[in-house]
Amino acid sequence: MTIFTSEFNQSNSEAQKRILVAGGAGFLGGHLCETLLDEGHRVVCVDNFLTGRLRNVEHLFSNPRFTLVSHDIVDELPEIGAVDQIYNLACAASPPKYQENPLHTFKTSVYGAMNLLDMAERYGASILQSSTSEVYGDPDISPQPEGYHGNVNTVGPRSCYDEGKRAVETLFYEYHQQRGVSTRIARIFNTYGPRMSPTDGRVVSNFVVQALAGEDVTIYGDGSQTRSFCFYTDMIAGLMALMNAPDTVSEPVNLGNPTEFTVLELAETVVETLESSSKLRFVDLPKDDPKQRKPNIARASDVLGWAPKVSLAEGLAHTIPYFAAETDLIAHVPMA
Ligand code: NAD
Ligand code: UDP
Repeated sequence: MTIFTSEFNQSNSEAQKRILVAGGAGFLGGHLCETLLDEGHRVVCVDNFLTGRLRNVEHLFSNPRFTLVSHDIVDELPEIGAVDQIYNLACAASPPKYQENPLHTFKTSVYGAMNLLDMAERYGASILQSSTSEVYGDPDISPQPEGYHGNVNTVGPRSCYDEGKRAVETLFYEYHQQRGVSTRIARIFNTYGPRMSPTDGRVVSNFVVQALAGEDVTIYGDGSQTRSFCFYTDMIAGLMALMNAPDTVSEPVNLGNPTEFTVLELAETVVETLESSSKLRFVDLPKDDPKQRKPNIARASDVLGWAPKVSLAEGLAHTIPYFAAETDLIAHVPMA
C-alpha cells in the first residue's frame, strides 16, 4: 500500500465533505474524483490500478484536497481517517478484464465491499455501491425495472462479476437493515466516454478504436443483441444525486440511458460517423452474452428527478476525438 498525498490538514467548511472513491483511477472514478474536487470536497482515491490508469487522476495531484492511495480493497483498508461519504466503483467492468482473474473479481465485490461497509459504519458515512445491469443477467423482460429479479447463470464466465455484484447488493441491504448504515445502490447500465482505456475491450471503445484504425469492426454474434448507452456526464450526475438523496433511498436504482440500440446499429453508427473504411466482421458470440438491455428509469426519475440528457450521437462526438488522441491514430474525425 502506498499513499501519495497532497491533502493538508484543512479546516472543513460546513458544506465540504471528505469523500473516499474506491476505483477512483478508473474511467468513471476519475471523472467522479474530478467533479467532487470541483465542488470543493476533499477526495481520497483508492485504487489498485488493475484497469485504472494514473493518467486518469494525475492532473489532480496538484490539488491540495486530493489524495491517492494505491491499495487493493480485497485487503483490509489502511487507516485513512474519517470520511463522510464512500463511493465504491472498484471492480473491472469490461468482460475480458474481469474474466482474467474471476476469483479476484468476486473477492473485489464481496470482500472489498465488506471492508468499505465496515469503514462506513465506523465513521457514520453514507456509502454508494456501483452495481450493474448485469444483475438482470439475460433478462426475460424489457425494459428492466428494479423489481425484476433477473436471469443469471451462477456457473459461467460472467458469473464472477454478475453474482459478485448481486452478493454486494445483499451485503448493502443487510448492513442497512441490521446495522443502520446509510447505503445506496446504483444499477449502472453501459456507460462510455473519454478516459475509457482504448484496450478496455468493451463495445464502444473497441468499435471506435477499430474504426479509427480502419480495421475490421468485430461484431460478436449477429449484432442483434441490444444495449443502451449512457454518456459519462449523465452517469456522474446520477451517482451524485443518488448519494445525496435521503437515507430512505436505500433500494437499488437503475441509472442508464433508456434509448436502446442493437450492437449492429452501434457499429454502423460509428463507422458512418467516422466515414471509416472499416468492414464489419461477425465473430462468435461469447457465452451467456445478454440479448437485451434497456433500463426502466422511472424510479430514478421519481426519487432523484434524474434523467440522462446526452444522446448517443452527441456522446460519440465527444468520445471519438478522445480515442483518436489517445491512440495517436491519424484518422478523419469530422466533429470538433
Ligand atoms: P474501470 O475498469 O475503468 O474502473 C474500475 C476501477 O476499479 C479501476 O481503476 C480498477 O483499477 C479499480 N479496481 C478494480 N479492482 C480493484 C480492487 N480490488 N481494489 C482497488 N481498486 C480496484 O470501470 P468503470 O467503467 O469506471 O466502472 C466503475 C464501476 O462501475 C465498476 O464497479 C463497474 O462494475 C460499474 N459499472 C460500470 C459500467 C460501465 O458501463 N462503465 C456498467 C455497469 C457497472
Ligand atoms: N461486443 C461486440 N464487439 C466487441 C465488444 C463487444 O459485438 O468488440 C458486444 C458484446 O458481445 C455485447 C455488447 O457488445 O453483446 C456489449 O459488450 P460490452 O463488453 O461493452 O459490455 P456488456 O454489456 O456485455 O457487459
